[in-house]
Amino acid sequence: MDADVIVVGAGPVGLFLATELRLAGAEPLVLERLATPSEDEKARGLGPLATEAFWRRGLGDQLAEADVQGTKDLARDHGTTRGHFANIFKITPSEDRPRTYIWQPELERVLAKHAEGIHVLRGHEVTALESDVDGVTVTAGGTWRAKYVVGCDGGRSTVRKLTGFAFPGTPPLLRTTAGQVRFVGDVPSSGRYDGGTFLHGGRLAGITELASTPEPVTAADFAASIRRITGADVVVEEFREERRFGDQARQAETYRLGRVFLAGDAAHVHSPSGGQGLNLGLLDAANLGWKLGAVLRGDKPEAFLDTYTHERHPAGEAVLRNTRAQSALLAPGPHVDALREIVADLMDVPEANKYFGDLLAGIHQRYDFPYLAPAPAGEHCPDLELVGHDGRVTRLHEHTRTGRGLLLTAADVTDPRVDVVPVTNTGPLLLRPDGVIAWAGEGPLEVALDTWF
Ligand SMILES: Cc1cc2nc3c(=O)[nH]c(=O)nc-3n(C[C@H](O)[C@H](O)[C@H](O)COP(=O)(O)OP(=O)(O)OC[C@H]3O[C@@H](n4cnc5c(N)ncnc54)[C@H](O)[C@@H]3O)c2cc1C
Repeated sequence: MDADVIVVGAGPVGLFLATELRLAGAEPLVLERLATPSEDEKARGLGPLATEAFWRRGLGDQLAEADVQGTKDLARDHGTTRGHFANIFKITPSEDRPRTYIWQPELERVLAKHAEGIHVLRGHEVTALESDVDGVTVTAGGTWRAKYVVGCDGGRSTVRKLTGFAFPGTPPLLRTTAGQVRFVGDVPSSGRYDGGTFLHGGRLAGITELASTPEPVTAADFAASIRRITGADVVVEEFREERRFGDQARQAETYRLGRVFLAGDAAHVHSPSGGQGLNLGLLDAANLGWKLGAVLRGDKPEAFLDTYTHERHPAGEAVLRNTRAQSALLAPGPHVDALREIVADLMDVPEANKYFGDLLAGIHQRYDFPYLAPAPAGEHCPDLELVGHDGRVTRLHEHTRTGRGLLLTAADVTDPRVDVVPVTNTGPLLLRPDGVIAWAGEGPLEVALDTWF
């Protein structure tokens, strides 16, 4: 074996997974097609669950630093720092859970630094893959062998196609033409206009309509489309790296076939509305890394790995559902105008406003456990303030760098399977390495410990 796990793709999800695997004691090898990292400004932010996952690994300061500029850029491009559902910019940012505005290339730099020391082979495109009883052989120029392979190779995933994962879903309703754009003078705000939607963030700008022209787009064509849609007299000096994408929503039927797994966009694609894809993928990585580590160490049997699909597939489904709803609300026409007015009014109701914010953050998704575990078990634990027996105050993320399970308790106990943190200000909690609450005081602790550790 050349490694325990071959991770295909050094995008954000692949890099994060590789670091989680290393923390769990496994040896990852990353194979990446591109010779140098992409500078594409796609995602511009991390939701609360992904932000907290990064804090748990000691990356909070780097995120906070990037967030200063990221938030300014957001205000510049959207005219507000409120969140949006289908470009209805009304969602009040949550004060309870953190989020981060960081451009994707910057995030990938943070992750690349965090991944230093991990074997990452760039300029290696995976073209073939073969599983047998002991492992998987991967071809990418040369051949490499590992016990498991994870395809983190994006929406057009080669690993998914080579392995034969079914990828059902819905075809595009709306189509976007986007590119790296340089404007001269004023740029209209991102949003839905009568004829379509204009989106603008950093260097990326795009227009979304029911149908796009089949021909390549010039700077003058793009300016004319923006004028037609927004009414603004824009001047586009440069339009390059044209890209087309639809809001098709597809999801792999299972995230595991034998020794091969999918994570991130390889497992699910949907429209970028509401900025959720990256969060979803990073949480796939957080969920899978420690589980593969536990099986590779021999602490858990192979069947344990099926909990990955069981937990993460519903999370993906929920995002596909709300992005489809957003696409419906972005389509042109008077019927949709009327529906948007009603949704916009609804968002003025504080409870409804919070509902939309929580929906996009995935806060209330609970994993379904194989034992009786009332909420908050199954949820991602927030970054709690903890008070020890000596009165010392810490935050949860200060105890999670080891990537081990944690038992927060006032009782004087030890257990070799987890780190015990004495606390006096909260009820007992058992946390998995991915920050998920495994037990919150109800039912036998032993069952939860046995299940996960
Ligand atoms: C316009 C736009 C805006 C977005 N905004 C947001 C946002 O605000 N928030 C958010 O959460 N998400 C957003 N997203 C989605 C987000 O960008 C993706 O979900 C994210 O990039 C997924 O990461 P990934 O690592 O799964 O895949 P990718 O980033 O696609 O990385 C896959 C990697 O695999 C490599 N690869 C591919 N094939 C092979 C192969 N055969 N062999 C080896 N390597 C290979 C690729 O080169 C690439 O480096 C946006 C997307 C778009 C298009």
